[in-house]
Amino acid sequence: MIELLYLLAAVAFIVGLKRLGGPRTARSGNRIAAAGMLLALVVALVDADILNWGSVAAGLAVGTILGVWGAVRVQMTAMPQMVAVFNGLGGIASALVSAVAVVESGLIDTPIETTITIIISTLIGAVTFTGSFVAFAKLQGLVTGSPLVFPGQQFVNATLSVIAIGSGIWLLAGGDESAYWFLGAVALVIGVMAVIPIGGADMPVVISLLNSFSGLAAASAGFVVGNNALIIGGALVGAAGLILTVLMTKAMNRSLGNVLFAGFGGTDAIAGTGDTATKPVKRATAEDVAIALGYADSVMVVPGYGLAVAQAQHAVRKLASALEERGIDVHYAIHPVAGRMPGHMNVLLAEADVPYEQLLDLDQADPQFPQTDVVLVLGANDVVNPSARDDPGSPIYGMPILNVDRAGTVIVVKRSLSPGFAGIDNPLFYEDNTLMFFADAKDALEGALSALSQV
Ligand code: NDP
Repeated sequence: MIELLYLLAAVAFIVGLKRLGGPRTARSGNRIAAAGMLLALVVALVDADILNWGSVAAGLAVGTILGVWGAVRVQMTAMPQMVAVFNGLGGIASALVSAVAVVESGLIDTPIETTITIIISTLIGAVTFTGSFVAFAKLQGLVTGSPLVFPGQQFVNATLSVIAIGSGIWLLAGGDESAYWFLGAVALVIGVMAVIPIGGADMPVVISLLNSFSGLAAASAGFVVGNNALIIGGALVGAAGLILTVLMTKAMNRSLGNVLFAGFGGTDAIAGTGDTATKPVKRATAEDVAIALGYADSVMVVPGYGLAVAQAQHAVRKLASALEERGIDVHYAIHPVAGRMPGHMNVLLAEADVPYEQLLDLDQADPQFPQTDVVLVLGANDVVNPSARDDPGSPIYGMPILNVDRAGTVIVVKRSLSPGFAGIDNPLFYEDNTLMFFADAKDALEGALSALSQV
């Protein structure tokens, strides 16, 4: 019966994941997967010999309070950090499951296959823990987002890895508990050392990879305690995280090796600084924008990170509705890495009830720009930077972009000429067909909407 219920939970995870693949079904997918997790939890609690229900209740209470607080209080723009914390805690939980097995058994008469899974879950879990918290600190601006590099770093990291593998072999060869604790300590250091040389701009990719690691650690811990739901759930997280990591690196035209070892992105992750206001740009007012939009036949909105910062999703929806009432065709072009996490823009626009049919992905939107009258770029920068197409010397050269400069008129809404995440200038701002509207995205949209009534 227990195994059958675990199987049911696993089916719920898989159906949930499948439904998370599309915006229409994502909410129910989330609920189905959560119900599966609840089932797995209840079954595990009933199955286990719980000695102290008080501590279980206390854990549930603390978890519930923190979970509700996080869901309500954490801003959409801070979601990658929150995921980093979740991954880190998942990783250490798996490592601790193995640690408990070690303490209980003292590694006496432990079958070799169990020792192997203890080593794997501890190694990956501990690396995930410290690595995720370094990623969190970088994204939260608690430490610099710049890559932290020093001479001989690769050598130090390679040595640490050799020591970790060596202590694993020591354990397998009959080492006692001290070998285990040594392995855990080295893994914690590896997590820090692996993430500090990676620039803040690449943190979301790292977080996705660590997400995959936390799944692998959980699956190994599942083998240690013989829990099938943990093995299946962990394997699903491991696979999903890895697929997402590959998709993100592809969308940035980078290899995973380049992300992990190249020290890309010398600028701080959170705020692009530096001003290139020396070149002339065409400035626009709310009235100019209203006129351009009001007389267009087709408008393509390109949202970016700035839209999320300004929380302008409802304002853009209102402006789009006003344009549609005038018979203007409105669509949204969503770049796969617009914003700070995959699906960031889709989630924001869905929150404002933007119809899904109007959301076009890169392949659908890009061919339409030459026939589009006005493109409204809202707080997006890198994903519309033509250097990625034209300048082989650019750090983002080769990254697929939305070729908005091929449209009739491009209106760029942002607060200044500051660069985006990649920290580089954008030639789009100086093009003849580009109008710069320097304002917070929400204020700009509200201004344009009220000016539209006069057009
Ligand atoms: P960018 O980071 O390139 O640009 C965002 C722009 O928004 C900034 O230039 C900023 O300019 C502007 N901005 C900030 N606040 C506001 C505001 N309140 N109102 C209006 N504008 C504002 O964003 P993109 O979405 O174009 O690109 C995403 C970047 O993130 C890419 O480099 C991508 O590789 C990277 N990335 C994304 C991941 C993902 O999964 N989505 C993962 C990893 C990396 P200003 O300060 O002048 O207002």
